[in-house]
Amino acid sequence: MRPLVNELPRNDNFFFVFSDFETTQDTRLSESSTVQIPNLVCIQHFCTVCENDPDIDAACVRCGKRKHAFWNDPVGDLLSYLCKPRQWCKRVIAIAHNAKGFDAQFILDRANLLKWTPKLILNGQKIVCMTITSDIFRLSFVSSNGTA
Ligand SMILES: [Zn+2]
Repeated sequence: MRPLVNELPRNDNFFFVFSDFETTQDTRLSESSTVQIPNLVCIQHFCTVCENDPDIDAACVRCGKRKHAFWNDPVGDLLSYLCKPRQWCKRVIAIAHNAKGFDAQFILDRANLLKWTPKLILNGQKIVCMTITSDIFRLSFVSSNGTA
């Protein structure tokens, strides 16, 4: 076992992405219930090069344009963007505004459709953390509003 050292782990190859889904709520599932369908996801992101730049409209030399909105296929477009190969990136940390509520369910549904096998940490039926690993990326979804 390696002894503890008084230093933070390296994160200069991490890509931090903050997301928030908007949904429609008027699609009938049954006579008495509706289903929420994502129709927009907005993201902002940073890497260690731009993390201290408060101007989110300024593109980063490493991670590029730092805010996006996906309308056509919000879940698929978000996953495509997050899984895009980035030479410098070893891990994507996607922090969703309401991941444990329902945002992570949209990602999990798509992951299942794609036959991915995410690792889940659950609290009851709520997804606390979901990690998807492939040969070229490691993508983790966590909630921004706590784990309880
Ligand atoms: Zn950056």
